[in-house]
Amino acid sequence: MKATIVTLPGDGVGPEVTAAAVKVLRNVAHRWGFQVTVWEYPVGGASIDRFGVPLTEETLQACKRADAVLLGAVGGPEWDDFPQQIKPEAALLALRKALGVYANIRPIQTFPALYHASSLKEKVIAGTDMVIVRELVGGIYFGKPRGMDTSRGWNTMEYRRREVERIARMAFRMAASRRRKVTSVDKANVLEVSHFWREVVKDVHRDFPEISLEHMYVDNAAMQLVMNPRQFDVVVASNMFGDILSDIGGAVTGSLGLLQSASLGDSGALYEPVHGSAPDIAGKGIANPIAAIASVALMFRYTFKLPEAGDVIDQAIASTLAAGYGTPDIAYPGCKTVSTEDMLSLILHAIENIQEERKNGVII
Ligand code: NAD
Repeated sequence: MKATIVTLPGDGVGPEVTAAAVKVLRNVAHRWGFQVTVWEYPVGGASIDRFGVPLTEETLQACKRADAVLLGAVGGPEWDDFPQQIKPEAALLALRKALGVYANIRPIQTFPALYHASSLKEKVIAGTDMVIVRELVGGIYFGKPRGMDTSRGWNTMEYRRREVERIARMAFRMAASRRRKVTSVDKANVLEVSHFWREVVKDVHRDFPEISLEHMYVDNAAMQLVMNPRQFDVVVASNMFGDILSDIGGAVTGSLGLLQSASLGDSGALYEPVHGSAPDIAGKGIANPIAAIASVALMFRYTFKLPEAGDVIDQAIASTLAAGYGTPDIAYPGCKTVSTEDMLSLILHAIENIQEERKNGVII
């Protein structure tokens, strides 16, 4: 088996965490006898500095040809005053659109060693393991008409059947390989568009009788996420509701440096840490590479269809944290504080150990 990957390290800590993630990608691919070719292109501020635009046509075409794209992060104070359409962040929207990635997948799980990092109590978050599936290219962020004048502002929330069907299908398929439960979030008691969303999700559910489906109003879902996050398996939501809920979910985990994401379409796939370019710590060698490395685990699962390889990466991350190591963003009293490079080495070492144990039949 073989695959071509495009990496877009970007700005700030992007290149640091992407370099670590690519090493894990190569290491695990090699173990699975998987041939992976990696092409690197500039994006965001790095691309503006070289070519005057945040995303060149050449980079875009390379991303479209690739089996998957791994992005670091874009942006930074150097480019803050640039016009909106040539800011580093403009590259993200253009990339998502060109790749047709309509589903943003954000796994949210907690690690026992880091329960302290969450603003919620350990007894509330312990054992949380859920995925938020957010519709990414429709809804109120894109609906027309939109606008504002001095007396009013307006936006349109619209969903077409096809848009709801494909995101619902993605959620049900994801639940099939997990705990087989989907919570669809809406505001059907107030919004017609949400009522429609609910009806279409129910229709799609007929094709997935083995999955249980519940509907939850978004205000209740926000409360349930902080009261009892363990109840959720797969949560599917429209663009804006999913945006808000995934940030609440992120807070459950604790640090931005831990949160991975995948944006998936019918063929394109974009993997990236949730965090930004963290200019305050860039170049210091202390960025947490876990979010980027865990994004590679998602790539193995969703693009390469090698879930066991993804599991090994996730286990390696969990065991490294359980052994008491952490980059400064997640450090706690008694924690062995390490650099980006050390964290990478520890995770690679853990991968090696897990593989050995698997071979010896300790883990099956
Ligand atoms: P940020 O995520 O870059 O940083 C927020 C805080 O989290 C900072 O204190 C930072 O040090 C910390 N942090 C982030 N990632 C970390 C990591 N891997 N390890 C340790 N600590 C980490 O958000 P911000 O400061 O609001 O934005 C900085 C720049 O990044 C802005 O230009 C913004 O537009 C951009 N941004 C880009 C993306 C993206 O590329 N997807 C996402 C968000 C923000």
